[in-house]
Amino acid sequence: VSTVERSSVVIVGAGLVGCLLAAYLSRRGYRVEIYERQGDLRQLPDGGGRSINLTLTERGFTALEEVGIGGSVRESCVPLYGRLMHGPDGEETYQPYGNHGEAIFSIRRNDLNRILLDFAEAQTGVSLHFGWACVGVDAGTPSVQLRNRESGEARIEDALHVFGADGSFSTVRRSFMFHSQVNYSQTFFDQGYKELSVPPREGGAWGLQPNATHIWPRGRHMLIGFPNSDCSVTLALHLPFEGPASFEALGTEDSLLELFRKDFPDVLPKLPNLVDEFFSRPTNSMVTIRCSPWTFHGKVSLIGDAAHAIYPSYGQGANSGFEDCQILDSCLERGEGSWPRVMKDFETLRKPSTDAIADLAEEHFEELRAHVADPKFLLRKKVERYVSKKFPVQYMDLYSMVSFTSIPYVETLHRERRQRSLIDRLVSMSGIEDRLGDREFDEFIANALHSDSVGTLVSDLGGISHGQR
Ligand SMILES: Cc1cc2nc3c(=O)[nH]c(=O)nc-3n(C[C@H](O)[C@H](O)[C@H](O)COP(=O)(O)OP(=O)(O)OC[C@H]3O[C@@H](n4cnc5c(N)ncnc54)[C@H](O)[C@@H]3O)c2cc1C
Repeated sequence: VSTVERSSVVIVGAGLVGCLLAAYLSRRGYRVEIYERQGDLRQLPDGGGRSINLTLTERGFTALEEVGIGGSVRESCVPLYGRLMHGPDGEETYQPYGNHGEAIFSIRRNDLNRILLDFAEAQTGVSLHFGWACVGVDAGTPSVQLRNRESGEARIEDALHVFGADGSFSTVRRSFMFHSQVNYSQTFFDQGYKELSVPPREGGAWGLQPNATHIWPRGRHMLIGFPNSDCSVTLALHLPFEGPASFEALGTEDSLLELFRKDFPDVLPKLPNLVDEFFSRPTNSMVTIRCSPWTFHGKVSLIGDAAHAIYPSYGQGANSGFEDCQILDSCLERGEGSWPRVMKDFETLRKPSTDAIADLAEEHFEELRAHVADPKFLLRKKVERYVSKKFPVQYMDLYSMVSFTSIPYVETLHRERRQRSLIDRLVSMSGIEDRLGDREFDEFIANALHSDSVGTLVSDLGGISHGQR
């Protein structure tokens, strides 16, 4: 892309998406000023303190690789090849993510942010300003009102275009939310999460098996763990806010330990700081945010979580924000010169997909916390694995489509609905539960697939092209 001198694009927020967006815009010759309200997390002594884990998947890496940062990010991740389910009796069941050794990649959010900050800063024409909070936006010029968090100094920055990459509770979005024709909704999940940590064992070995996502599903509550590259494992304890086995009910050390002795006895000895961590760390909530339009007066736009925050059940929020940058770049390629046209094109292309992943993420939370331990769920998974091996061109389970392809989310949702009809039919066939032995099971499903009614459902699936895989 040739370098052309233009006025600056201002990005509010030097989080994951703001940094990647800056790199994409720099490639197109834009000067970019990023304003971040926090200090520079690379300068903080412990790299920014605690940090949630993220898992990155195919579509996230595709967007990172296009600007040349995918390799460095991948090197800092731990690959996870499946889910390790921990039953209440300590029994462990391993479910691989795919039939071909597919993996998702775990990394601490702060580590990823540091890599992206370095990368953004190294791009031509990109400047980072830390400690400056956006306090308002004027779409007329457009311009951003900024306040320095230490000195209190106020500043107004004019821009060619303003992007709000300032996360779920975006100030940029708030500046326009109460205008007419702006639709907005936020839906909080009825449970929150608290982070706990399994430190490395003495001598630096992993406290839990390293290359898997660990899940302890217990109906309305669950524990989920992601290994880190320093051999620790970050756990998130998900609990309802109120009711039995809730944050409200765990007001004392005794009640906390009782819950762990009863529901998570295998991991309790590996949590030496459980009580301290539980009572000193914040309880976090999860929210779905939907908003439209994403662009105001053709001059100020939202991207990433500011436009479409989702529940983290699929681990797709950052992946989706990275994909935003890549798709926006393709819109810039087509409509350069006209920001209103580019942003309209972007929203038309992108919003059906971000709505779809928001719906899917809400559904998947139910699956994660309840069904993964349920024999009916395990039977479905077994049937799915058979069908996807038998029809690799037509069938791909939803988790794989979301995580291991770049098929637009909205298409994965439509395909999933058709695939679901097929699996519903197969698991409801009488006698299937009596044939769980591998050979008998395969024969049973193979015969069922030959029947006319099931065959029609298979032909309804259509194919997934090679390029989409
Ligand atoms: C528990 C949990 C687990 C998750 N797991 C995954 C996962 O496994 N995989 C995945 O892909 N995603 C995951 N996500 C989602 C992911 O964290 C977000 O989608 C991603 O961080 C969004 O990036 P962003 O840059 O849009 O927003 P953010 O990361 O929120 O960054 C916004 C930035 O803007 C700054 N800012 C905010 N307000 C202002 C202001 N007024 N002025 C200036 N700066 C401002 C903030 O300080 C911040 O640096 C998870 C989220 C949660 C809560």
